[in-house]
Amino acid sequence: MKQLPHLQSRREFLAASTALTAGALAGCATPDASLKQGFIDAHVHVWTPDTNAFPLAAGFQKSAMQPPSFTPEELLALARPNGVTRVVLIQMSFYRFDNRYMLDAMRRFPGVFAGVGIVDDSAARPQDAMRTLAKQGVRGFRINPGSQTVDAWLGSPGMTEMWRCVGDDGLALCPLIGPNALPGIAAMCAKFPRTRVVIDHFARIGVSGEFLEADIAALCALAKFPHVHVKASAFYAFGQKRAPYLDFGPMIRRLRDTFGPQRLMWATDCPYQVQRGHTYADSVALIRDRLDFLSARDRDWMLRRTAEKVFFA
Ligand SMILES: [Zn+2]
Repeated sequence: MKQLPHLQSRREFLAASTALTAGALAGCATPDASLKQGFIDAHVHVWTPDTNAFPLAAGFQKSAMQPPSFTPEELLALARPNGVTRVVLIQMSFYRFDNRYMLDAMRRFPGVFAGVGIVDDSAARPQDAMRTLAKQGVRGFRINPGSQTVDAWLGSPGMTEMWRCVGDDGLALCPLIGPNALPGIAAMCAKFPRTRVVIDHFARIGVSGEFLEADIAALCALAKFPHVHVKASAFYAFGQKRAPYLDFGPMIRRLRDTFGPQRLMWATDCPYQVQRGHTYADSVALIRDRLDFLSARDRDWMLRRTAEKVFFA
């Protein structure tokens, strides 16, 4: 997701982060069981201001880190009071192919985090890096076209290897794309029918303010591939971009009817969801409480079971 200016105060973050710490669940008799009861936030980025231990990739400045700190502790202090017990961490762009900070969080909070890594798709054998990360618990890989055309991107030898490896090894590919890439993704799904795909952030439909019918139709066209999932996420970024986000209702209803709730997963895209007046609570509330066409079963899949199946099974 495009990085937005950080407008939440540092003080708010610090206040929240002292409320709950890494050890908060350590006192539970059955931490595993209690983790499984809660919701799963399927898309969050974490980072540390300690750029000595975890340097930014070439071309990124510390000023790109907004907020300057968003550690697992700061994230969990926001997530846990909202009933979220597990989170899928998405490798942050400014660490590029160095997935160590995400892996460090996964090790420090066993069972709490799943990981979606980033590897170099221009490498000769990206599958080698993928398998090394998969051994450390990474379950998915983020891909995006960057400055390439969609055809050049999806047509590259590295992309062929990645789609094949994900299918062979039961992992997931997470394309960060706009609606223009949806036909290309459909062609790849036809070519690699076993490859599990999780489309980020509704394929960014509605970023300009309008949820265009042609775009929604292109996204729904992917439903014929049984391994395609969609993240219902980043509500701060699309449509009216204003809580309570009820303008997402018709699109989410279409996706529920087309994909079924078993292929939709909710996510916040923190820390970007908690800036500029947007809150964690408003994000979860849209799916948990507000869209009255969602059944209790729909909500259960979208808030927990779909992400559990894809990223924690
Ligand atoms: Zn994101």
